[in-house]
Amino acid sequence: MIEQIIQQVIARLVPALDPNAVVIGVSNRHVHLSQADLMTLFGLTEMPVFRPVRQPGEFAADLKVDLYGPKASFKDVRVMGPCRAQSQAELSKTDCRALGLQAPIVQSGHLERAAPIEIAGPKGRIELERAALVAARHIHMGPSHAEAWGLRDQDTVKVRFGGVRGGVMDNFIIRVKEAWAPEIHLDIDEANALDVASGDFGAMVLD
Ligand SMILES: [Zn+2]
Repeated sequence: MIEQIIQQVIARLVPALDPNAVVIGVSNRHVHLSQADLMTLFGLTEMPVFRPVRQPGEFAADLKVDLYGPKASFKDVRVMGPCRAQSQAELSKTDCRALGLQAPIVQSGHLERAAPIEIAGPKGRIELERAALVAARHIHMGPSHAEAWGLRDQDTVKVRFGGVRGGVMDNFIIRVKEAWAPEIHLDIDEANALDVASGDFGAMVLD
């Protein structure tokens, strides 16, 4: 029993010791709001901060909304700040099935094919024609990290995960922006499939 536990812990730690290790951040369903939609839903011009997240300048807002799809709704979905040019709801495939939505797997902000969704706050309700998406797997990093790893914005890499449900997953999009910290972003479905949590590590498989 103890031996089994030790083996599981070691398996989890192995990716962290890899020179291409990157910390994991798991995203639950959340929404980003435009300035105009923040006003409609909450009557606010600024978002109160609930807590900062790993990426500098980004934070979980002290605001929650309700999401409505054709089949169901979700209460108390976290708003992430700061405001974006366009509002969007980032959902898992499981969330989409529950809501009755067919949202595409795309990069955050790429809303051309996004699904319609309704969002309600304490002050109002909005119907968005193209706002629901499943975020494509991606890895954040700054330009200096990208250079050190020989990577460029929009490259794709595989990532190896340890642990009893570990494995190698394809198609992580590298996203490079000044001041970004290296971080692998997974949604809840992906994290549950791999049995990983925020703070665990994955190792990029670089050729
Ligand atoms: Zn991300």
